[in-house]
Amino acid sequence: MTVLSPDESQPNCSFCQKRRDEVLNIVSGPGVHICDGCVELCVEAVAEAKKGKLTTRARELPRPREISAFLDTYVVGQERAKKFLSVAVYNHYKRIRSDDAAGRSADDDVELAKSNILLLGPTGSGKTLLTQTLARILDVPFAVADATGLTEAGYVGEDVDAMLLKLLQAADNDPRKAETGIIYIDEIDKIARRGEGPAVSRDVSGEGVQQSLLKVLEGSVVTVRPHSRGAGPVQGSRSRAAQDGLQLDTTSILFIVGGAFPGLEEIIEARTGTKGIGFGGSVRSRQERVAENLFDGVIPEDLVKFGMVPELIGRLPVITSVAQLDRDALLRILTEPRNALVRQYRRLFELDGVELEFEEAALEAVADQALSRGTGARGLRAILEDALISVMYEVPSLEGTVRVTVTEQTILDGREPLLAFR
Ligand code: ADP
Repeated sequence: MTVLSPDESQPNCSFCQKRRDEVLNIVSGPGVHICDGCVELCVEAVAEAKKGKLTTRARELPRPREISAFLDTYVVGQERAKKFLSVAVYNHYKRIRSDDAAGRSADDDVELAKSNILLLGPTGSGKTLLTQTLARILDVPFAVADATGLTEAGYVGEDVDAMLLKLLQAADNDPRKAETGIIYIDEIDKIARRGEGPAVSRDVSGEGVQQSLLKVLEGSVVTVRPHSRGAGPVQGSRSRAAQDGLQLDTTSILFIVGGAFPGLEEIIEARTGTKGIGFGGSVRSRQERVAENLFDGVIPEDLVKFGMVPELIGRLPVITSVAQLDRDALLRILTEPRNALVRQYRRLFELDGVELEFEEAALEAVADQALSRGTGARGLRAILEDALISVMYEVPSLEGTVRVTVTEQTILDGREPLLAFR
């Protein structure tokens, strides 16, 4: 493509036929010329088309089965949680859309209640990943907040603001867009009141945070200011709106609240009469009991006993759980999801023209080690990183390497992976 200066040949714009001296510039390709004005029109037309495409996409709400199938491509197992989440999320967005379409008439005979979700289950088993993936399929803004952060502050309100501010930032500072987003609040169990009796001394803070979350979860208008504690300044914060604060209505924001709830299984067992004793009278560990998905049988009263404020549990009408990941699930997580760790490392090596191979026994050893760490799938990355760090350091400078093979000994004894050269 050539940009012609005025003293070169004088073609007309092929689109509007204006002469070179009538426009600022003309760009020429093989047999075709376009002026700056027509380029601008094209840019506008493309932007409009993109906007139209986005609106169409937003209109098509994926069905529960489609949502669940999409989750399958990223999250291994956790079928029960996938089902509950797909339905809850579908109903939530269906409700918002029907509200929008019907203009929220006050005399509707059936009012669809908001269904925030409580997601129970051990750490590293995919709670955050599930919620993040939901936001991705629905194409809505997403933010993660940690409930433990909320306990530390004296001014609880500001911290809830910080959580909303994160969502606003994920929505490119568009409050209307943020109002359709998803917030995942992790480690909610950490702000439980300890013991069933009346709250005392420092436990009050946990209960106070729970109280402060109530209104936001249910739906209220919150003024979010760019300099709330715990969050960076809003982009373009010199604008008037940013200085005054932006009004955010939390009614349509979907809150998913998660936690590991250690000790909850004993509460459930005590109520249901099942003891921590397995087949043949062996005492089962917590891991075993959580693997059996004892949390499936949870009822709101158990959570109140655990120390959650009843009103907060009341605002989380959908309760579901993820199971502790077993060895087989960890093995699948290594290779199956769309962005599985093994695939990611393979790709990294491929970029250097090197093939990366894992012996089956090596993958099994990785899964075993992760299992013994007790941090679910979280341990996997660190174990692989450890095993591959030396080759990732050396191989780019080793001429002629064609293949790296990670063996069982690499994982078990720290031996270097095998290298094959051209
Ligand atoms: P949680 O929120 O339950 O503590 P995360 O969702 O943060 O756990 O999981 C930590 C990491 O482990 C994720 O980034 C993901 O890579 C991996 N992971 C955990 N569970 C799964 C799963 N069921 N399927 C695929 N990957 C998983």
